[in-house]
Amino acid sequence: MFRDFVINSGMLIAFLSICYQIFRNTGLNPQLPIGLKIKMGLIFGIMGMVLVEFSVKLTNHLIVDLRILPILIACLYGGFIPGIIASFAIAVFRIIRFGFSDTAFAASISTFILPLLTYPLFRKQKQLWKKWVYGSIIFEFIISLNYAVFIDGMKNKILIITLFCSVSSLIAFLIYYYIRYLEAYTFAFRRYQQESKKDFLTGLNNARQFDAIYNNIIEKSKTDKRQISLLFLDIDFFKKVNDTYGHEDGDIVLKTLGDLLIHNCRDIDIVSRNGGEEFSVILPDCTSDLALEIAERLRKKVENTSFILSNGVIIKITISIGISSYPDKISNIDILKEKADEALYSAKRAGRNRVVPAK
Ligand code: GH3
Ligand code: MG
Ligand code: MG
Repeated sequence: MFRDFVINSGMLIAFLSICYQIFRNTGLNPQLPIGLKIKMGLIFGIMGMVLVEFSVKLTNHLIVDLRILPILIACLYGGFIPGIIASFAIAVFRIIRFGFSDTAFAASISTFILPLLTYPLFRKQKQLWKKWVYGSIIFEFIISLNYAVFIDGMKNKILIITLFCSVSSLIAFLIYYYIRYLEAYTFAFRRYQQESKKDFLTGLNNARQFDAIYNNIIEKSKTDKRQISLLFLDIDFFKKVNDTYGHEDGDIVLKTLGDLLIHNCRDIDIVSRNGGEEFSVILPDCTSDLALEIAERLRKKVENTSFILSNGVIIKITISIGISSYPDKISNIDILKEKADEALYSAKRAGRNRVVPAK
């Protein structure tokens, strides 16, 4: 019997690892959208079914297993909906797999009511480890009641209940720590994913993320014939800022400019730092006239802004901007980027601190 519990806990750990792999982009939490909550409930339901399948058979109808743990985890980490789905799936499976009997019926009802019983407690209690302790105690108590009713002989009752409670408490304790490890791991993964999309200095999208978003929007604009404008911005004579005040103060200018761009664009616009002192703004659903207005507003804002360096010195900078707009100015969307780049180059050649729309 002990050997079976070891196998069961090994399966539980393997299942949890797969589950956290599936939910690595969101983690398991009660704020998941309903679709993911249902998916989570079903996955934990399957987990419980596997545990029921590998259960330890005490008599023809009476089995001992760890099915309460997937239900407990689904309730604790996903909330009521995943918990009730998992418990329902397991309860039904228990009856289908081992036939209908009074023990199967009692076990299935007990399994099903576990999320209902613990729901108010889990809502009130904030500390996770306490929820684990209370949840384990309640779950084990309900299942032990079944054993108390259906196992013959007082000695057998005490032996099985003691064994069941101590083994499932021990495994619950191990699983609690293992989930903490999985949470830390998936959190680090999500953070890494986020950071790989962001420019470390300004917090804007980096060049890779710009490409991903740009390609996506272009594809949509192609099929829906939606307007889109693109701004390429470049700081004028930025090398001089670095040479005069140092690289660190140059970084402060870049960061301040990043903030300024974000705060002076529309919510739907996508601001990126494409590299060095070059930035871009994707303007979805934006005509060439509106793009010109936005670009001119940004140019003036930068010209009138005081950039405060580390030692309190205030400097002024200017930017040049190239614009390209689809379809009103550029009919071939595939060359939108090249055209914005050319327009920026024209702005530089024309004397800088100006906005040039591509024709
Ligand atoms: P132009 O008006 O023609 O754009 O002149 P410029 O001096 O701005 O252009 P150039 O491309 O010659 O110089 C860009 C400078 O930007 C060179 C480089 O040292 C600086 N730069 C690039 N990345 C960073 C960065 O991350 N931090 C800082 N401080 N400077 C950077
Ligand atoms: Mg420059
Ligand atoms: Mg440049």
